[in-house]
Amino acid sequence: MPLAVARDVPTLRAAAARLGRVALVPTMGALHEGHLALVREARRHADAVVASIFVNPLQFTAAADLARYPRDEAADLAKLEAAGCALAWLPAPEAMYPAGFATAITVSGLTERWEGAHRPGHFAGVATVCCKLFTQTGAPVAVFGEKDWQQLQVVRRMAADLDLPVRLIGHPTVREADGLAMSSRNRFLSPEERARAAALPAALREAAALLADGREAAPVLAAAEARLHAAGMGSDYLALVDGETLEPLAAATPGARLLAAMRLGAVRLLDNWAVPSA
Ligand code: AMP
Repeated sequence: MPLAVARDVPTLRAAAARLGRVALVPTMGALHEGHLALVREARRHADAVVASIFVNPLQFTAAADLARYPRDEAADLAKLEAAGCALAWLPAPEAMYPAGFATAITVSGLTERWEGAHRPGHFAGVATVCCKLFTQTGAPVAVFGEKDWQQLQVVRRMAADLDLPVRLIGHPTVREADGLAMSSRNRFLSPEERARAAALPAALREAAALLADGREAAPVLAAAEARLHAAGMGSDYLALVDGETLEPLAAATPGARLLAAMRLGAVRLLDNWAVPSA
């Protein structure tokens, strides 16, 4: 089936209704294999897939980051069609936030640490746009990547708190051959930085194995951080947390997760790793 494209809410609603039970995959475009894996996962849970491409100004803290965010609509549409997506939702900012728009959704607690502490307002922007995307499409299912672990927990909390009739599915992070999590921002790494970036998943994998053995978190995290600094990265955070509440842990418990944000050149590398239960 050829890919349909909607650029305003009435067109989207009419097209989604014709498709039956749809699964939503929200994205900001510059699509890679990670996004396409979500589309393929979504196909298993509904009659058809709707993917949104919207670089959401509300969730950017730095204007420069928003301005340089990669955009490649033609290539994205071709990839979505090839992955079996039925409908692309491409709102202009004015279609998403018409003049006079004045509503925001804030999720407290979960959003105060980690990404939320480094990017004030980011998760209110994410929660607000996701709530709109759910109600615009009427999707009973939406698929998100575990790559953005905190985002997934925030959206789950919001959907539960607001009784939104959407089931959220998390999909494991898709990685490059050397372990680096795929990301639209990886293209901003120089070849030399790109080679060093693989130190992050390697450090997370090793730390997760030690923590699964019952080691105390503090020395394990300090050693991993030292290794990442030696690879030229600056750290925003590297933490062992409860996978749902995101509260820090002194040692692994079932469902524990390592969360990391590292700076390498002009790029923030975001990654996370499950700590297997002993
Ligand atoms: P983004 O376009 O980066 O905002 O991401 C859109 C969706 O794709 C989010 O649910 C992300 O978590 C997910 N995603 C991004 N990169 C990956 C990846 N490497 N593997 C799996 N999901 C991803």
